[in-house]
Amino acid sequence: MSYKLSPSKLNTLVDCERCFYLDVKEHIPLPRGHFPSLPCGMDQKIKKIYDEHRAAGTLPTELAHFTEARLFENQKQLDIWRDNFLGLRWHGQHGNILSGAIDDLIIEKEKLVIVDYKTRGWPLKDKNTIPHYYENQLHLYKLLGEKNNLPMADYGHLIFWTPDAQNGAIAFNREVKTIALSTPKAKELLKYALTVLSQDTLPKPGKECQHCSRYRRVERVMKCYETRAAQTTPPKPPLTLPPSTEPHPPEHPTSTEHGNAA
Ligand code: SF4
Repeated sequence: MSYKLSPSKLNTLVDCERCFYLDVKEHIPLPRGHFPSLPCGMDQKIKKIYDEHRAAGTLPTELAHFTEARLFENQKQLDIWRDNFLGLRWHGQHGNILSGAIDDLIIEKEKLVIVDYKTRGWPLKDKNTIPHYYENQLHLYKLLGEKNNLPMADYGHLIFWTPDAQNGAIAFNREVKTIALSTPKAKELLKYALTVLSQDTLPKPGKECQHCSRYRRVERVMKCYETRAAQTTPPKPPLTLPPSTEPHPPEHPTSTEHGNAA
């Protein structure tokens, strides 16, 4: 059996093996619920700003201190790598595919550096601790780049956009966090994923998520309601058909019908 994996699916794995297994192996993803449109809108606008800088050969303000850097120039190629249905892609062993859509790239010392925009409601609680899901995502992008024979840098930039009230209007603060990237960590994650998927039994649910235990409680409550409803519903009377208006056929043939009336 072959699998289609992505950084977001592999991040699910870290939180809950069961959810990952159900999504990738049984094609039952978690319902997405109502997804706020603001981060998507922001993502599009940031990409547009970066593309304008690309065309002009300049750097956005938050990256201007990287004096030796420039934005990756090939817009057409970047558009493919940004596409959720195409992205950076690697066909691994046994038909498995890993793919991920990147936000942007800069070139520093002739190496490609992953740039990922993160729109958040508020800054990171601990500025020195980057959440594991952001790091994993970038480790995997580095691996994807290398599998496509790209000269990837061993670090990447996360750019956090957080809203702020300034002079009676909403503005966005931007903060760049540079993190070290590790191909072995990405490979470890992939190996872990394939081990979980090779199991024939459903893995245990993650500790943090309460959805599964809620679902089991809902199921128990529904059964109780169904049982009570069955007990309180008066038994239905047996089905009686209305009397037929058709004449009844004779039960036995008459002697006339046998031709011996005389
Ligand atoms: S515990 Fe949560 S994340 Fe895990 S399988 Fe259940 S719903 Fe999914």
